[in-house]
Amino acid sequence: MELLQEMRAEGHEQLVMVSDAGSGLKAIIAIHDTTLGPACGGTRIWPYKSEQEAVWDALRLSRAMTYKAAAADLPLGGGKGVIIADSHTDKTEALVRAYGRFVDTLGGRYLTTTDVGSTGRDMEYIQQETDYVVGLPVTSGGSGDTSVMTGLGVYMGMKACAKEVWGIESLTGKTVALQGFGKVATQTAHHLMKEDANLVVTDVFDDALDRARDMGLTVVKPNDIYGVDCDIFAPCALGGVINPDTIPQLKCKVVAGGANNQLLSDKDGDELHRLGVVYAPDYIVNAGGIINAEAEIGREYNLERAREKTERIYEITERVIARSKSEEIPTAKAADRLAEDRLKSVRGIRRVYRAN
Ligand code: NAD
Repeated sequence: MELLQEMRAEGHEQLVMVSDAGSGLKAIIAIHDTTLGPACGGTRIWPYKSEQEAVWDALRLSRAMTYKAAAADLPLGGGKGVIIADSHTDKTEALVRAYGRFVDTLGGRYLTTTDVGSTGRDMEYIQQETDYVVGLPVTSGGSGDTSVMTGLGVYMGMKACAKEVWGIESLTGKTVALQGFGKVATQTAHHLMKEDANLVVTDVFDDALDRARDMGLTVVKPNDIYGVDCDIFAPCALGGVINPDTIPQLKCKVVAGGANNQLLSDKDGDELHRLGVVYAPDYIVNAGGIINAEAEIGREYNLERAREKTERIYEITERVIARSKSEEIPTAKAADRLAEDRLKSVRGIRRVYRAN
């Protein structure tokens, strides 16, 4: 399909190609939808094999941000920036600042933040060129490490699922299998441990597993995590892990974790639904990071406000489950409908305002 045709089909507003010879910057900024507010999304720094691959990634990820922000009740649209570079070898102050200058030219239509390959330090460089940046370190007056709120949101989502499945939100005595023991999983684990849940974890890195053992958690091999006899399976590492190979191995009643794009395809969400496994849609329960960053916009960052808004993920997950039941659709589809309804209703009032 032609690019503009594809953008039209998926509802994208704008695609910006950026080049700066001096710093070597090659970047793409995609703005999907600004109905609810400025497009917000991280800047991914990745050595894409082709420009086309980078463009598709920016388009795909910016659309996902629209849905995430809409469902989380945030005054934000969806956007994404990608810089074609290897963050380990090509990233320089000049490159990142050049990118910041281009973000500035969009006049606030796009707010950037951290993503794969970019850090809080990079956001500080960007801030030297533009005000349209969030996710700054605490030392720069920002909201700091996003995984704190992401981990809290995943925990709140698990509790809403527990209420649905076991009639009580408490996770005391429940067994949770965590795939990946990185930043988000560790934050979620702290909440679960306070509630006396039993945790079984895996990771591909020994230092993560040593940390888990030090916390007194049970550790299993990466491939064994799917078959753990547990109540909740929590993907907190990679995407695509819920698929035709892994679903038959699952023994849980709930799938709820922090990883993005957990379902390999929509069919896998349908299959979980058919099996009676409650799936907490990934972008609903992992929205804590963007909620945290949003708490920086236009005012001084307030931790309590960010925490309170992140805790609302419990109610949003409940709403998704209720819709899934009433419309007899998988929860992933219910989440999309929730987000689309909000976009549609706000588009409606904007039309009225313009007409006046
Ligand atoms: P992280 O890198 O700190 O943790 C990921 C962990 O998964 C690492 O310890 C890694 O070794 C492990 N891992 C990788 N492959 C694995 C495998 N095959 N089996 C088991 N473990 C494996 O990253 P994070 O910030 O904790 O993010 C985790 C997931 O959540 C990612 O998918 C990320 O995109 C998503 N997410 C994170 C945030 C955030 O605020 N950090 C927000 C939204 C979504």
